[in-house]
Amino acid sequence: MQSTMMDRPLLLDDILERASTQFGDVEIVTHMPDKSLHRYTYADMVKRAKQLAQALTDAGIKHGDRVATFSWNTHAHLEAYFGIPITGAVLHTLNLRLPPDDVAWIVNHAEDRILIIDDVLLPLYEKFADQVNFEKIVVVPLAGKPVPEGMISYDDFLASASGEFEYPEKSEYDACGMCYTSGTTGKPKGVVYSHRSSVLHAMASATPDTLNLSYNDVILPVVPMFHVNAWGLPYVSTLTGAKQVFPGPHMDAESLLKVYESENVNVTAGVPTIWMGIINALDAEPNRWKLHPEMRMTVGGSAVPEAMIRRFDKYGLTVIQAWGMTETSPLAAAARLKPNIQQRSEDEQYAIRATAGTPVPFVDTRIVGDEGEPLPWNGKEMGEIQVRGPWITGSYYRLENSEDKFTADGWLRTGDIATIDEDGYINITDRTKDVIKSGGEWISSVQLENAIMGHDDVAEAAVVAQPDEKWGERPLAAVVIREGRELSAEDLAAFLRERMEKWMVPENYVFVDEIPRTSTGKFSKLDLRKQLLDNA
Ligand code: ADP
Repeated sequence: MQSTMMDRPLLLDDILERASTQFGDVEIVTHMPDKSLHRYTYADMVKRAKQLAQALTDAGIKHGDRVATFSWNTHAHLEAYFGIPITGAVLHTLNLRLPPDDVAWIVNHAEDRILIIDDVLLPLYEKFADQVNFEKIVVVPLAGKPVPEGMISYDDFLASASGEFEYPEKSEYDACGMCYTSGTTGKPKGVVYSHRSSVLHAMASATPDTLNLSYNDVILPVVPMFHVNAWGLPYVSTLTGAKQVFPGPHMDAESLLKVYESENVNVTAGVPTIWMGIINALDAEPNRWKLHPEMRMTVGGSAVPEAMIRRFDKYGLTVIQAWGMTETSPLAAAARLKPNIQQRSEDEQYAIRATAGTPVPFVDTRIVGDEGEPLPWNGKEMGEIQVRGPWITGSYYRLENSEDKFTADGWLRTGDIATIDEDGYINITDRTKDVIKSGGEWISSVQLENAIMGHDDVAEAAVVAQPDEKWGERPLAAVVIREGRELSAEDLAAFLRERMEKWMVPENYVFVDEIPRTSTGKFSKLDLRKQLLDNA
């Protein structure tokens, strides 16, 4: 039997229109390169996004064409987040932290036609300019720098748009955006999002037991808009009508805390390494900042140490861990406490908050063993986590031989190893490539890192596998000691022996000044391995 419901596609166009009719006077704020605050409203943003759409159309951009951005988190980038897809074209965010050769490779692979770039990022563009060939380069005057010859100012480009923009017809299955994985192994892989997947992802993200977002919130995404759509926050914030605050190029703890305070931010999001800087700044001057009394921080992208969650709680800042990847739009799971868990002891609740949480609605999850057999949800058995759902990619853009990334029965193989407990909470124990195989047993590098970071004198730690004649592999821990503290390898090992099985405790420790980071700010095990094992 046919339903009687209207056949209206799910489009980003409707999120934009709703913002204009419902939230026109709500503010959007950007921390500019000169540290001033740029303020305007949703009404202004919608008007300019449509001007951009029309200017792009006038410049010959057609349905399905790729338009690239090379930008910080700013109001102008938000305009591009809507202005590009509403024309039927595809927003291609370029990761400005990738090596220049990789960016050039990605631009050419995606066949980007136009580039929209912040003026302050032009020097970075110069590093790969000779390897790419954009038809047009549009420069956003964030710092008012002169526009180089052959390029056009963003403001002039918008001003060139003639008349009122009319939304062209689209299917909800049309591509609206694309993002390449950081390529920690092999070449970057392109993931293409659709209007439908982006709208559904935004709606699921907003639900109370996921990120619980509404027009009562003031949201500052620290997570970059140049990678995985800043976890979809620009779309979900606009959908809900929340006030949006963008950090621009200022991602250091002092600048963030200043803007959290001045704009009364109550929701923020980013990778754990960002929060380490923030918590150290709070500890150093606990009474300096007057933050929102019920601030929530979504933390994901790598495992969140339980010790960090506890430290933030002391300041009334609630950490909500989330899990996902470029391939999953990215939100796939979030760690909220179900009612039965709220009855448990404080320690048990912290343990649950340190997991990746439960899958968000419409994301199906399973863990499988080496032979692809489904494993039970008992919190003990570890296997690869596989997912499927309406905002999970089913393939990669123009990539042959990627069959091993998907199962024959239609699930994405995430490459993450996890347990799932009886309540459905996913605990990521490792990446398949990072797990330490010692004497036939698996040691979770994440579990070890969290235990080490639970020591009061430790600022950060990362663990990699070191080849070992007897055991095959043994864990090697790189540890950064907190400023002004001292700690010996013996004392740290003794601390760990009290907290985990003795055979898991590393024999070897290297004390370092910092852990190398990837382009998205996560610990780079690849670089760490090179650094430590080449020196060994
Ligand atoms: P890439 O850096 O390769 O582009 P993504 O940015 O898509 O990859 O990151 C995805 C990966 O980050 C996941 O597969 C997982 O290993 C890791 N990750 C994300 N969130 C968490 C989390 N909460 N706990 C542990 N690992 C996480």
